[in-house]
Amino acid sequence: MTGARAVLRADILVVGSGLAGLRAALAARAADPGLDVLVASPLSGPSGSSFANRNDCLGMQVPDPDDADFDAEVLRLSAPGFADPALVRLLRLEARARLDDLLGLGLDFRRASDGSLERLPGCFSTAPRAVVFSGLSRAHALFRGAAEAAGVRFLDGLAARELVSAEGRAAGARFLDRDGAERVVAARAVVLAAGGPAPLFPHAMCGPGNDGLSHGLLDRAGARVANAGFVQFFWNDAATGRFVQPGSALRPGAVLHGPRGGLSLEPGHPALAHAGERARHCPAGYGLPDAALDELLLDHADAEGLVRLTTAEGLELRLVFCAHAGNGGAVVDADGMTTVPGLFACGECATGMHGANRLGGGMVLATQVFGERAGRAAARLASGRSDPPVSAFGGLPPLSPPETPAQAERVRRGMRRHCLFGPRPGLAGFVRELEDMARTSALAGSALVLALALLARA
Ligand SMILES: Cc1cc2nc3c(=O)[nH]c(=O)nc-3n(C[C@H](O)[C@H](O)[C@H](O)COP(=O)(O)OP(=O)(O)OC[C@H]3O[C@@H](n4cnc5c(N)ncnc54)[C@H](O)[C@@H]3O)c2cc1C
Repeated sequence: MTGARAVLRADILVVGSGLAGLRAALAARAADPGLDVLVASPLSGPSGSSFANRNDCLGMQVPDPDDADFDAEVLRLSAPGFADPALVRLLRLEARARLDDLLGLGLDFRRASDGSLERLPGCFSTAPRAVVFSGLSRAHALFRGAAEAAGVRFLDGLAARELVSAEGRAAGARFLDRDGAERVVAARAVVLAAGGPAPLFPHAMCGPGNDGLSHGLLDRAGARVANAGFVQFFWNDAATGRFVQPGSALRPGAVLHGPRGGLSLEPGHPALAHAGERARHCPAGYGLPDAALDELLLDHADAEGLVRLTTAEGLELRLVFCAHAGNGGAVVDADGMTTVPGLFACGECATGMHGANRLGGGMVLATQVFGERAGRAAARLASGRSDPPVSAFGGLPPLSPPETPAQAERVRRGMRRHCLFGPRPGLAGFVRELEDMARTSALAGSALVLALALLARA
């Protein structure tokens, strides 16, 4: 106990139990079975985009170790964002080993008729490097079962609201539990694996249990964050949630309706010249000429973000641009360590192994390669380190309560109006509003990181 605040202890605290967090926890225990590894997250069942996404399957890039074209593709796609060639190389060199881990766990991979793993191209690529597994709930049970068998402890029902540092290094985190009470965990090393920023937007595709706070948590802890403004968006049918490919839906004869009048697409419309390239990837691509089709759709969105479209075949569609996954996060080294000593980040809250755009299947690979690396490095660090000073937690002011529904609505509406696929008009005013709200709202703090990244590009 420190003052009135009870402090739980662990050697390594992992925040989040998606593919990245569970891989990190498994790797830490494997590296040093004597360490107390604690995973804290809001839900005990499948959560996040890893284990509860609506597709019930995930692709994973698995390049050959000598496939240098992989690095070239990843780095080309990373513009206009930031990527670190050394991290990209690690993805390539360690993909096979991490695939072996997943096969060893018993995940259900798609196979060709001869029993070999089926290989497909991921978005933005024509090279068939990606493998696919399905049954995400089962995948979660296998991962969690393996972690429990390895001695990893789980604390469910906790949402991190703040990372704590002491004497210049990560010292733990503060959480709110389901009843709104504060819980504190002190640790020798902390791995943030809390997923990405998609929930900051009103229309998001990510799985449950993610409050979208990871960028704000990192930023407040003093970690360098990059690529925050590069969030992937998909056009989905508002009624069914099904993905609609702009490269197919926008053809001569289609009509875009909108608050500023309709547009009948003629054969020579300049955006249509890019329809073929756009059809090769589901998310809109930053800095790519084929983003002209996405901008055309965005130009016809109403105040709620809906785009009404009549296809060339006469089909009436209402489309909405949905946040899928973020490509930004903490800048990390080869061990997954952020610029704060002892604070690691992996999965969708780390960046540099991809930049503005990412190969389809690249994030699952990143969760496994850098989850493993972060877990092992956290174990090395924790083995040789003493507990953080209790004084780190004694004098902290009470945590702010969670956002009110009205605040959360204000943040999400603003994100849609000003931060959808790049900086939009009115962003500077929204940033000022967020700065004010961020004093008490962790959600606004996280949105602010993303909005500021976009403002820098405006
Ligand atoms: C529909 C869909 C399909 C996708 N398909 C692919 C694909 O085929 N290939 C690919 O590479 N990528 C794909 N992605 C992206 C990919 O699934 C995710 O980026 C990846 O799974 C992220 O893993 P993660 O472990 O970092 O985060 P998540 O899986 O999102 O897990 C985050 C964890 O952190 C917890 N958490 C969140 N906030 C807090 C908090 N404040 N405190 C404590 N815990 C918290 C969550 O509950 C969860 O346990 C897809 C995404 C979606 C939405």
